[in-house]
Amino acid sequence: MALSVFSLKGKLAIVTGGGTGIGLGISKAFIEAGARVVITGRREKVLKEAVAELGEGARYLVNDITDKAGIPALVQEIEKTIGPIEILVNNAGIHHKAMAQETSDEVFESILQTNVMSVFALTRECAKYMLERKSGSILMIGSMAGLFGIDKVVAYGTSKTALTGLVNALVTEYSTSNVRVNAIAPGWIESNMFLNAINQDETRKQQITNRIAMDGFGQTSDIGNAAVFLSSEAARYITGVVLPVDGGATVNF
Ligand code: NDP
Repeated sequence: MALSVFSLKGKLAIVTGGGTGIGLGISKAFIEAGARVVITGRREKVLKEAVAELGEGARYLVNDITDKAGIPALVQEIEKTIGPIEILVNNAGIHHKAMAQETSDEVFESILQTNVMSVFALTRECAKYMLERKSGSILMIGSMAGLFGIDKVVAYGTSKTALTGLVNALVTEYSTSNVRVNAIAPGWIESNMFLNAINQDETRKQQITNRIAMDGFGQTSDIGNAAVFLSSEAARYITGVVLPVDGGATVNF
């Protein structure tokens, strides 16, 4: 089998939250696989530095994904001035650590706004073009918290579980137009979001370490490599999966 089926040469990808952590890991892997990448996020400085690191083939657009009214214009701008979007990675996400009884409606709603509502809005707008062209790959970034119960992340866990529902529903409507929809469920991956959370809680750190079957936490490149595969021609018959990239944490007892 020719390895070229794993190549993303000539494809244009949007990676939301591509300036940091897992999004940056995915963007690096995409560029290495030959894609052009547009990264988005709210902080221009972060995005600028990321593009300098990613090099030729990367661009950024400052965008708050919760500004849903602005999403059609964002997608249109990319399509018109940069090129046809072939790959969308819904990576941007926020986390909130609190017991259910300490979680307000406002917090719960804000997590759902970023992690679910914005993902749907951006997906729908990008899919308008993809469905027309009968070609596209959409990736959600889920979480272990979407696969099993984890305490102190009620809103986050609910939001990530909802992404599985979104994948399932979209597969029933997009597949005949050759637009694939999958998710990656990262395990515990070394990023600022994760390290900030973990370093404040020794008990949790031990709990997580016990859960992971392999040694150590994952790297952002582990998610990047899986994202390349799922977005490439090599995965042309794969749609509707939620792929754990977790060192065995999902099945480990
Ligand atoms: P980071 O905090 O490094 O990344 C989050 C990214 O999302 C940032 O680049 C941030 O940029 C962007 N973002 C957040 N809110 C918005 C918004 N409203 N509009 C646009 N961009 C936004 O954490 P990770 O890299 O760890 O997280 C990336 C994804 O991976 C998330 O969906 C997270 O839930 C998921 N995940 C992470 C795991 C881990 O172990 N690290 C495990 C499982 C899932 P900015 O602030 O500039 O807007």
